[in-house]
Amino acid sequence: MIIFTHHTGEPHSILGAQMAATFFQRRLSIPCIVVGIERNFSKERLLRFTDQYYSGNKKVAAFSHLCGRPDIIGLVQVFKQNGFMTILGGPQARQDYDGEPDTDLYAHRFKGLKSVVDLAFQGPVDRLGSEHLGTRGLLIEYPWTKNIFLEVDWSNIYTFSDTLKKLEVRLGQVLNAIGCPYASNLQVVTLPPPVNLRERGVPELKVRSEGCVFCDVSRDKGYHGSVERDRVMTQIAGLPEVDGRKIPFELIDEYPIRHLGKLLEDAEWHKIKLSQINLVCRVDDINAHVSDLEEILSIAQKEDIKIMFASIGFESFCDRLLQYFCKGITVADIVKCVETLRRLKDRFKNHFLYRRDEGANHGFIRPTPWDDGETLQEMDRNIFLHRFFEDILPEHSTPLIIHHASNLGDWIRQIESTTGITFTRDGTWIEWWNPSLK
Ligand code: SF4
Repeated sequence: MIIFTHHTGEPHSILGAQMAATFFQRRLSIPCIVVGIERNFSKERLLRFTDQYYSGNKKVAAFSHLCGRPDIIGLVQVFKQNGFMTILGGPQARQDYDGEPDTDLYAHRFKGLKSVVDLAFQGPVDRLGSEHLGTRGLLIEYPWTKNIFLEVDWSNIYTFSDTLKKLEVRLGQVLNAIGCPYASNLQVVTLPPPVNLRERGVPELKVRSEGCVFCDVSRDKGYHGSVERDRVMTQIAGLPEVDGRKIPFELIDEYPIRHLGKLLEDAEWHKIKLSQINLVCRVDDINAHVSDLEEILSIAQKEDIKIMFASIGFESFCDRLLQYFCKGITVADIVKCVETLRRLKDRFKNHFLYRRDEGANHGFIRPTPWDDGETLQEMDRNIFLHRFFEDILPEHSTPLIIHHASNLGDWIRQIESTTGITFTRDGTWIEWWNPSLK
């Protein structure tokens, strides 16, 4: 069996898909690999490769981590037409299978993948049994728990652009938290209309948000606690090595700092040599743990380990937009955080990485539906005043993405139902910049 996912072609892992493939292989005795499909791949060559790969084998193809790509959704359809049993797992599997509500009243909405997916699976893969693989037209859902299957065969991933290439993973991932702790943060935010619809009578609307309002992960998965320490260490021990040290890995946890010092101590105690830990982290975690960070970096320096803040969710440098995003931080928090990072860099030099030119790619969402002269002026002023362009700003900002199943998806549907204005869909995404006015 193959699990197809989105992939950039860079030597990084896709942890969920690789764990699932390892589970199929080791627990269900179903040979399974992951094939990461790069953008601009050759569909014709991919289908030729899969013809050969599946020759004489059961035709079951799984898909995960679609990343909103219509070309991968199109592939699911082709596999189905070619007689495959198709499985959909990973983030948003249930919502992408079900589609948006009221598609009979709103024909332009995303109708879901029921017609092309035989089995959709939401939740931890280890609840899946061989008996499920024969069923068709089914959505199975199991709750997340802390005791999920965490084994990874690091050699089971390939990429495909115009030919199948084995991927030597050089950036792994280790799961430290199941979901995002900030997702437990329930809020209601009042959102004004998109600026291009201000004159069209679109009202301010209240939107419920679990965590950040644009985040589909928080709504999909919620938060289910930290993985136990010994299971984190087992994952780290299983990572590939280069020159006697574990490859760099991303610690999956939006609040990683509280666990980091102990993790370094445990690695030393188990005589596991680490090279680099990448953190994808919230601003409030950094601000709340400045002195802990200094201690952690002292240990890292002693052990010759690099700690990299690979992606911090700044998202905006305008207070009004941060509030619309339900980000739970202000520009003043961001300034404090960046000052801390710069100070730590002066002290810990090469053992502490956070800059764009060191490979970090921090969150910066622009354009958004609420950009106007005032927000743009505030943002540009802050960027200039605090010199964010020197080290923090990514090369390109990311436009606000509205997945149909995110809280902002609810907002768009409220606009549609109260005003009759509709927004086009592109696969699983809603094009908020593209309203159709009747
Ligand atoms: S954007 Fe990050 S911090 Fe916000 S809810 Fe999603 S995962 Fe959590």
